[in-house]
Amino acid sequence: MACDEDDGNLPVWDEDRGHPVAWEEEGEQLPEWEADREPAQFWEEDEEPALLWEEDEEPSSAPEEDTEAPCAAGSWAEHSDSSTALQPEGSGEWSLMQLRNTVSVGEPAEKYLELEQIGQGAFGTVSKGLDRATGGEVAIKKMSLRGQNRERAVNEVVVLKDKKNPNIVNSLDSFLVDGDLWLVMEYMDGGTLQDVVRQTRMAEGEMAAVSQECLQGLDFLHSIRVIHRDLKSSNILLGMDGSVKLADFGLCAQLSPEQDQCSSMVGTAHWMAPEVVTSSPYGPKVDIWSFGIVTIEMVEGEPPYFQQTGAMARALIRQNGTPQLQEPRRLSALLRDFLECSLEPDEERRYSAQELLQHPFLSSAKPLSSLTPLITAAKQLREQQRR
Ligand code: ATP
Repeated sequence: MACDEDDGNLPVWDEDRGHPVAWEEEGEQLPEWEADREPAQFWEEDEEPALLWEEDEEPSSAPEEDTEAPCAAGSWAEHSDSSTALQPEGSGEWSLMQLRNTVSVGEPAEKYLELEQIGQGAFGTVSKGLDRATGGEVAIKKMSLRGQNRERAVNEVVVLKDKKNPNIVNSLDSFLVDGDLWLVMEYMDGGTLQDVVRQTRMAEGEMAAVSQECLQGLDFLHSIRVIHRDLKSSNILLGMDGSVKLADFGLCAQLSPEQDQCSSMVGTAHWMAPEVVTSSPYGPKVDIWSFGIVTIEMVEGEPPYFQQTGAMARALIRQNGTPQLQEPRRLSALLRDFLECSLEPDEERRYSAQELLQHPFLSSAKPLSSLTPLITAAKQLREQQRR
C-alpha cells in the first residue's frame, strides 16, 4: 500500500487533545488574543484556562473514558482538501478483499477464550484473552469495519503482518466476525506509558531505558519503510517486566521506493511534527519528533500545549517550532541535547532513530526491570482513582 494511496484513504476525524486526527484546516491562524503571548505562559501552573478549556475535559488515561468518537464520514468531506482525498469509489471493497486474504478462517472462540474488557479506543474495544492451545495471554482488539474504520483496520492487520520485532506489539492472529475485525495481539500486562508519566516521576535513567526501546522499535519500522504517525505515550505499552513496545498501527503509512513521502495531516495534534501541521511532504522523521514529545511527557507528565485545544496546539507548533521546557535546568545537559536532536524543526537536521540510538544520553539507561516499580505504582494509583 503506497503512502499516497494510504493517505488518500485515511479518514478525517475531528480531534481535540489526545485523540488521533487526519484532517486539514486551511489558513488556520493563531487567534489574535493569543498571538503575542510567549509560549512559556502556557506552562504557568496557575494560569486560568480559557472557557473552552474549562468545558473540555482533561483527556483521561483511563481507557474506558477514552471514547471520543471520530467524526462521521460527512465531516471528512467537509474538512478535506486535495491532500486528504476522499476514499476512491470501490476502495472499500478492495480493503475488504485484502482483509479477507489476510485473516484466519474459522471461529476465534475455538482458538481463544475471551476474558474481561481491558480497554476502549475510539475505534473499538480491547479484551484480555487466553490462547486455548498454549494457555498464553493475548489481547483481542475488536474493530468495526463500517465506514472510515475499515482503512484503519486494514493498516493494523495488513501492513505489519509477518513483520515481528521485540519492540512492537506484534499481532498474532486476526478474524472477520459479523462485520467486525478481531485482531489478536501480544498481551502487555503493564498498561501504557501514559499511565506511568501521569502517575509517577521518572528518573533520567528510566527515561533513557524507555527511550532506547522506543527508538529500537522506530528503527525497525523505518527500516521497513513504515511510518507510525501516531506515536504518543498512550500508544506505548509496557510489560510488568519492564518491556516497552510500540502499539496501535491504525494510522501508519507504508512508503515505497517510488513514494518515499506522505503529505496528509495525520496523527494526534500535540505530538505532530512541524512538517505535518504545515501540510508539507514528510517522511519517517515525523515519528522522531513525536518521540521527542513523548520524552517531554516523561519529563513533565504531559506534552507541550496540553492545556490548549488540538487546533491551538497545531498553531503553536507551527509558530514556535521546538517547544520550551517548563524547567530546563532540572534536566541534565545530555537529556537536553537528546531532546534538541529529536525536536529539531528542520527535518533534514533532525536525528534518525539510528542516530539517536548512538546518543550518549542512552548510556545512562537503567535496566528495564527498574521500570517495574513505576508500573506497579501507576497501576495502584489508577486503581485508587477508579474506586
Ligand atoms: P485511539 O485509537 O483512540 O488512539 P487507543 O490507542 O487508546 O485509542 P486502542 O489501541 O484500541 O486505543 O487501545 C485501547 C486500550 O486497550 C489501550 O489504551 C490499552 O490500555 C489497551 N490495550 C491495547 N492493546 C493492548 C495490548 N496488546 N495489551 C494490553 N492492553 C492493550
